[in-house]
Formats: sequence, C-alpha cells, structure tokens
Amino acid sequence: MKNEKRELIDKDGLRVDGRKKDELRPIKIMVGVLSNADGSAYIEQGKNKIIAAVYGPREVHPRHLALPDRAILRCRYHMAPFSVEERKSPAPSRRELELSKVIREALEPTVFLEQYPRTAIDLFIEVLQADGGTRCAGITIGSLALADAGIPMRDLVVACAAGKVDGQIVLDLNDIEDKEGEADVPVAMMPNLNLITLLQMDGLLTPEEFEEALNLSIEGCRRIYALQKKALKEKYISIREEVET
Ligand code: UDP
Repeated sequence: MKNEKRELIDKDGLRVDGRKKDELRPIKIMVGVLSNADGSAYIEQGKNKIIAAVYGPREVHPRHLALPDRAILRCRYHMAPFSVEERKSPAPSRRELELSKVIREALEPTVFLEQYPRTAIDLFIEVLQADGGTRCAGITIGSLALADAGIPMRDLVVACAAGKVDGQIVLDLNDIEDKEGEADVPVAMMPNLNLITLLQMDGLLTPEEFEEALNLSIEGCRRIYALQKKALKEKYISIREEVET
C-alpha cells in the first residue's frame, strides 16, 4: 500500500483542525485550582490539559543542594501514562528530563531567587492530556502558578510555538502538525521586558522562514500574555467578591 503524506493545509488555507495559519488553539486558563499547593494554574489549549503546582519557598531536601545566596528553582515536567493515545510508560523518560530542564531555564530569569536564600521553590507540571506544544503551555501556567504562590517576579513568562507545515509558517502547532510538519520553533518570553528566555528549533528552516516563525511565535506569546493576566485578575476578583459578601 502506498503511504501517502496527508495534506495539512487545504486549498482554502485551513489547517487540519480548521484554524487559519496565524490562529491560536482555543485557550482556557484558571489560576488557584489546587488548595493544597502554594500556587497553581491549569490550562486547556486545544486538546492539551495541563496543571501546574508550586510549593515553596521551603526548606531544601537534601540540604546540601541549598545555596547560601539564593533559592533553587526545581521543576518536574511529567506526562500521565493516559495523556497520549499510545500509553506512555510511567517511568521518567529522557524527554521529560529535558523538558523539565528547559521549562526551569525558561522561568528562572523572572524569579527574584536572591530574596529566598537557602530555600527551594518546587514546580510540578502534570500533563493530563497532550496534543503538541506541552512545553510551551507548561511554561505559561508554570509562571502563573509561581505568581499565584506570591513569589516576586520581574514579569510573567509566556510561551508559544510557530512552525512550518506544508511549506507554510503557522502558529501554535498541534500534535499532527508537530509530528508531520517540517519544523517547530518554541519561544518563551517576558513580554513586558521584551526578553526571550527560551528559543528552540526542531527541523529545517531558511533564515527568512526562521525569522517569520520567530515573529509569529512572539505575536502568539503576546496574545496568550493577555489571557494570563486576565486569569490572574479573575482569581483575585473572585476572592474579593467572597470577602465582601
Ligand atoms: N507525545 C506522545 N507520546 C510521548 C511524548 C509526546 O504522543 O511519549 C506527543 C504529545 O502530544 C506531545 C507531542 O508528541 O505534545 C509533541 O512532543 P514534543 O516532544 O515535541 O513536545 P511538546 O511539543 O509537547 O512541547
């Protein structure tokens, strides 16, 4: 049987899930979803469902990891075995280890770690359902969970990817586009400070295509940033309403 490559952008310029090239997936963000964590957030971005929990600043165990002049930020990205179509092994994978590291590195520059010497801030990202772009969505809610824990930050960090699909640059790739497309450029940034904290590229792009993808990712980040701020405000408006009634 001939294994024909499926068309990812149709003749009307629409993608497999009906989106235009510069369209984000539908996004729903909630802050303060876990009462036992110091801070938490949840996101649905297309079919992705991800939760983030922050504990700390708290005592470091094992103690020798503590730093005398600042806090350490630890991050664990984890995909539930049921989060993908083909069951994922519950054992920690190299991919999860790598994503834990890139998410930590994307968030570290925003946190005033020097304000909490000898402590640890632990961030857990739990992917309940995955459909491409989970590192970016994890960063977006990771920074919200840190903010919800009351940890002083320079800015929120927001992340979004753009990539190349059927020869065209598109925003916010889903799983099919990620796997069958030609390239993926995840970007994280602190929008108010205009600083990029994560830039990766998977696949091949010309310098012009790379610039187009980078600019589109940044545009996506700015749109998600507005949703992040709205979700944070909504939590605190609802707390005020509870106090006042
Ligand atoms: N994925 C999967 N099984 C795995 C790991 C990943 O099906 O064991 C899917 C999942 O939908 C994920 C996508 O592949 O979102 C892309 O993974 P990638 O490593 O590119 O990271 P992401 O795009 O999620 O940041």
